[in-house]
Amino acid sequence: MTRLLTDPAEAAALLREGALVAFPSETVYGLGADAWNGRAVAAVFEAKGRPHFNPLICHFAEAEAAFAEVVADDRARALAAAFWPGPLTLVLPRRPACRVDLLAGAGLDTLAVRVPAHPATLAMLRAAARPIAGPSANRSGQVSPTSAAHVLAGLSGRIAAVLDGGDCAVGVESTVLDLTGPGAVLLRPGGVPAAAIEAVIGRVGRPLRLSAAEATRSLRSPGMLLSHYAPALPLRLDAAAVAAEEALLAFGPHPLPGAGALWNLSPGGDVAEAAARLFAGLRWLDAEGQRLGLKGIAAMPVPLDGLGEAIADRLARAAAPRG
Ligand code: AMP
Ligand code: MG
Repeated sequence: MTRLLTDPAEAAALLREGALVAFPSETVYGLGADAWNGRAVAAVFEAKGRPHFNPLICHFAEAEAAFAEVVADDRARALAAAFWPGPLTLVLPRRPACRVDLLAGAGLDTLAVRVPAHPATLAMLRAAARPIAGPSANRSGQVSPTSAAHVLAGLSGRIAAVLDGGDCAVGVESTVLDLTGPGAVLLRPGGVPAAAIEAVIGRVGRPLRLSAAEATRSLRSPGMLLSHYAPALPLRLDAAAVAAEEALLAFGPHPLPGAGALWNLSPGGDVAEAAARLFAGLRWLDAEGQRLGLKGIAAMPVPLDGLGEAIADRLARAAAPRG
């Protein structure tokens, strides 16, 4: 049973327990999870029924809390002062000590952060005292919800609660701005117009528009487009055996014997646990494999039910030839 809440403190208590709570914002309703908790983040993808992992926006009660997790430069600080709380998301480098689970950022070295402008949600974020990761609170492929009733229509029974904050005022998503390079790049137009951003930090670049053929090619060449994590060591999929000079990304109670290094995504064979441990596992095997002089990473197959399809999608991207 999904509960309808009006008390931000109750919503915060559920989030701290690892439960999923949809929350209002000035843009659309978000599907919130404790961003420090990998299992809670995995549950977001499960509830949405998403066939792939994409990086989620992390929501904070104030700029200083956000800038404890990511590195803010002068541009980020000026934009935060001008537009937060508000519909502007900043993509910034993770700090080495960043506590946000890697799955929330889809394994990337960058993280999208924002402070939403909604009094109930700001109270919830203060009480939760941790970042809350949240994509829009709809099933995959459906439109973004702008009321608690919309959220329930799609997700009732799949999440613990909805914090009811009335109808969303803006109704379009936040503007997403990439500040990880020397030039700011507008990744998604949204609630804060590009001209308003340019009035604060000067010219903002637009991403290259790819033709359909280029877009298809880029899917096979992670790194050409920004948002795919891939290890430095080559990755081999659907391994039925493993060599001593390979690291093994295992799944289930019977990891293949003989690997030079081992990370088991889920000894119990639980795909949600595997999703929560996927990016941490790839990073650990990549570092450990290079330290030991191994030649690559072999991945055992993961069943395609539940989050298994999203895991397979990410592994396929990470294994694709580098462009
Ligand atoms: P939504 O899931 O609708 O809230 O959308 C989140 C948006 O932020 C998507 O367009 C993501 O691609 C983008 N985003 C989130 N994190 C990152 C990141 N680390 N780098 C680039 N884009 C990001
Ligand atoms: Mg969405």
